[in-house]
Amino acid sequence: MSALAKHAAQGIALRLETHVSALSLEGSSWCATLKTGGMIRARAVVMTVPVPQALAILSAGSYVMDPKLRSGLEGVEYERCLAVMAILGAPSWVAPPGGLLIDEGPIAWIADNQQKGLSTVPSATIHANPGYSLQHWEDERRSAGVPWLEAAIPWIGTGVKDYQVQGWRYSKPIRTWVETCVMVHASPTLILAGDAFGGPRVEGAALSGWSAAEALLALPGCA
Ligand SMILES: Cc1cc2nc3c(=O)[nH]c(=O)nc-3n(C[C@H](O)[C@H](O)[C@H](O)COP(=O)(O)OP(=O)(O)OC[C@H]3O[C@@H](n4cnc5c(N)ncnc54)[C@H](O)[C@@H]3O)c2cc1C
Repeated sequence: MSALAKHAAQGIALRLETHVSALSLEGSSWCATLKTGGMIRARAVVMTVPVPQALAILSAGSYVMDPKLRSGLEGVEYERCLAVMAILGAPSWVAPPGGLLIDEGPIAWIADNQQKGLSTVPSATIHANPGYSLQHWEDERRSAGVPWLEAAIPWIGTGVKDYQVQGWRYSKPIRTWVETCVMVHASPTLILAGDAFGGPRVEGAALSGWSAAEALLALPGCA
């Protein structure tokens, strides 16, 4: 999925792997404090991190948001997701095109990564359902994956060669925002966007980003 963003980013000056720990309003600029030290000033910011993280970054920068807006944004909720990524000894039995919604036991769905074109060797990603992910969030990750692998045997077989377990704290917004982005501050500009605004899929994130760009370009002097 990152291929979409990589394609759209061609020719743009990007700074990757840069953790922002605080965002503060300083005169006519936003000031992003970086975890590694240093600051970046900007006339406009579009922030697409999950909403609770955006609110924490703004609090760390002592930004005082309109209380009604803040309490609305605090209502955006996310599901957690634990997922097993397994290398298989033989192709899975998941039928083409390689995706299967199960939603029974601990498993929500299975993706065959070889059929999906992401892996040259047989491999599968097995997503736990939100309830199981929440219940086992603090468990030691590798052992937490064993019940899924066992429950997935009818689709992936017993020939798992290796596996790893990953967790996403903010995997899917379940209570989303009513608009496709939100202008928190007009000048200097701060817009929040992402799948919590456009809908919980890559399409939703893309539509929200598009909407944020339109809002930015509509501001005086930005077109
Ligand atoms: C396991 C999994 C599988 C999925 N599969 C699908 C699928 O098959 N199809 C589909 O349509 N959708 C899928 N989704 C959903 C899809 O990934 C999201 O809807 C989409 O990525 C949301 O995009 P976004 O830009 O809003 O946020 P994100 O993609 O979450 O981007 C937010 C970015 O902010 C960065 N960030 C966070 N905090 C900071 C900070 N302090 N400083 C700097 N950067 C920071 C993060 O590193 C991240 O790169 C899946 C999600 C998960 C978790």
